[in-house]
Amino acid sequence: MKRRLTAHYEMIADNEGNRYQFFCDLSGALGCTTKPFRGDTPEKELLLAWEKEGRAEFNHCHRCGKWVSDVMYNADVLECVECAPWEEQPEYCLQCGHKISPSDKHCPRCGSALKYEGR
Ligand SMILES: [Zn+2]
Ligand SMILES: [Zn+2]
Repeated sequence: MKRRLTAHYEMIADNEGNRYQFFCDLSGALGCTTKPFRGDTPEKELLLAWEKEGRAEFNHCHRCGKWVSDVMYNADVLECVECAPWEEQPEYCLQCGHKISPSDKHCPRCGSALKYEGR
């Protein structure tokens, strides 16, 4: 899989430049909104915003290359929870990030099957 430079993002035009919102590649949850940045090219500007602010809020999966938030990251193995599911049921839906209870088999919000190993 192609290595991605940043998490999924959206740009917001601002008087002083462009702000960037970065989203978790797995849950789609908003990770951070940066202050305005200006760059010589759109690509340079994006990377600047990512390096200065965005990146600190995300974890890089060493297997699939996704950028994910803390709750979607298995820090023991440095992989996202899609590549390395928790052994216990996670507290959050992997699709939408909705909080779930231990008895749930499906996410109450998006209805996706909750995957985890064991038991
Ligand atoms: Zn992964
Ligand atoms: Zn869900």
